[in-house]
Amino acid sequence: MTSKTFRARRLPVHGVESGWSALLPPREPTPALVHAITVDVLIIGAGFAGLAAAVRLADLDPSLSVAIIDADVVGNGASGRNSGFLIDLPHDISSGNFGVGAVAKSRNEILVARTAIQHYARLAEQNGWDRDVFDPSGKYSVAMTDAGTEHLATYSSKLKSLGEPNQLLSAAEIEDVTGTRTFKSGLFTPGAAMVQPTALVRAIADLFHEPVRLFERTPALSIESSSSGCTVKTPKGEVRTARVILATNGHAESFGFGSGELLHIFTYASLTERFNYSALGGYRKWGATPAAPMGTTVRRINGPDGDRILIRSRYTYHPTIEVGAASIKNAADLHDRKFADRFPDHRHLKMQYRWAGAMALTRNSVPLFGQVADSVFAACACNGIGGTKSTAAGVAIAEHLLGHQSQLGEVFSAFDKPHALPPRPFIDVGARLNLAYREWRAGRE
Ligand SMILES: Cc1cc2nc3c(=O)[nH]c(=O)nc-3n(C[C@H](O)[C@H](O)[C@H](O)COP(=O)(O)OP(=O)(O)OC[C@H]3O[C@@H](n4cnc5c(N)ncnc54)[C@H](O)[C@@H]3O)c2cc1C
Repeated sequence: MTSKTFRARRLPVHGVESGWSALLPPREPTPALVHAITVDVLIIGAGFAGLAAAVRLADLDPSLSVAIIDADVVGNGASGRNSGFLIDLPHDISSGNFGVGAVAKSRNEILVARTAIQHYARLAEQNGWDRDVFDPSGKYSVAMTDAGTEHLATYSSKLKSLGEPNQLLSAAEIEDVTGTRTFKSGLFTPGAAMVQPTALVRAIADLFHEPVRLFERTPALSIESSSSGCTVKTPKGEVRTARVILATNGHAESFGFGSGELLHIFTYASLTERFNYSALGGYRKWGATPAAPMGTTVRRINGPDGDRILIRSRYTYHPTIEVGAASIKNAADLHDRKFADRFPDHRHLKMQYRWAGAMALTRNSVPLFGQVADSVFAACACNGIGGTKSTAAGVAIAEHLLGHQSQLGEVFSAFDKPHALPPRPFIDVGARLNLAYREWRAGRE
């Protein structure tokens, strides 16, 4: 029997604490792994994908012994530091005259996203989570320009042709929601859910009990894979297992999986200091994505000590899967401008928290999914909306491992493999130019 060892060439560095984490009470992480254990399945990575895989494995076979390890603490990775939109509808409903293929593609994307949202809705109901953790509130899209308004109107009619309910809002109607006069129009879609991402992943992490165990601050340093199973080395322990689920998103490439196929993109968020809710009209909780895909996301959250606004904007390319302080500073300046543009009467509000997070995209927007080596299965490459895509990939890989048939499994098994990216340094130049161009096209949106 031959074996092959995949060593982690680098480990995740998530950077400064996110505002979401700072707003929550401190949490004691689970202990790191400090000895050798044997389990049926080992999951590497405790983000949306890894946690969803663990939950689904436990649902399907409660007797299965499962270990989840994460290099850091649950909530520090991208899954705890995003804007918290679980979006059920594709941003881009394939254009043209709705060829049959285009409709089927959109339907599959909706199925993937709704499976993920239902996964969290079920957990929220079973465990009595409140709406500060998971809120099936729907979401808005907002337009700052006439072109954005036109885009929303076209998008609304495409959704209607798909039979998807949605409501276009005039400038006055969206002002009633957001309390600011700067949006020219809006679109409400009821199927999205909003989450406090750190609270959500922590709540899931706290659900696990024997025979499912979570070990935080436990990086996988190497995976020795063979047809009869794997041995995964960690700094102070090791895991022997029949199967590994790799749920490390872009860090699949750090082990050599998906090499030359994953585009490592960072995006950034800022959260204001708290303000008295009466200072800004409109609803106290809402989330709005931009009319143009590369634009700025805005969200208002409320809490007992006051309300805050989150701004998410800017995408940058970092093949090392790490960003420095200068990138956060550049994004911070942009966020301040975007905030002032949207809330001119509140431009005096200061940003209290700023952070960045990593995402992995593929050229053809498919996940790195399925068997990638003997006894190793991947649910990686979130393609920017892992709240739904990674969650669904985690569910689907768990079902795949246990031979469970589902519609979701059919969609995932029909995905193409990720296409190769141009080699470096061409991709470095190309990715940066492409992001800059698309950001320029998004303009004020
Ligand atoms: C600012 C920001 C805003 C965003 N907003 C949204 C949004 O509103 N909606 C949405 O759907 N998506 C959003 N995203 C994207 C979303 O956060 C990601 O798509 C999603 O978190 C990916 O989940 P994942 O489980 O695939 O990967 P991750 O969350 O990256 O999890 C991978 C885990 O693997 C661990 N890991 C890596 N290597 C190792 C190793 N060697 N050993 C052990 N553990 C390892 C990491 O520590 C990490 O915890 C946003 C992202 C950012 C940064």
